[in-house]
Amino acid sequence: MEECPRCGWPQTEVYEVLSRHLTSEGVVSYTRCACGEMQVRVQPYTPGAVVTAGHEPPAPG
Ligand SMILES: [Zn+2]
Repeated sequence: MEECPRCGWPQTEVYEVLSRHLTSEGVVSYTRCACGEMQVRVQPYTPGAVVTAGHEPPAPG
């Protein structure tokens, strides 16, 4: 299990999702830890998985 190097928050528990994007590699999620550390995680498409599309958060900036 991976944890945040700054505060030890388990990365399996997402504190806050900033944005989420669908790419050719999978779903790229930008998350922010409880300590403010930003993280980027990629969830590869898996066979049989259903990805809900059509609802995108507003782009920052
Ligand atoms: Zn942290």
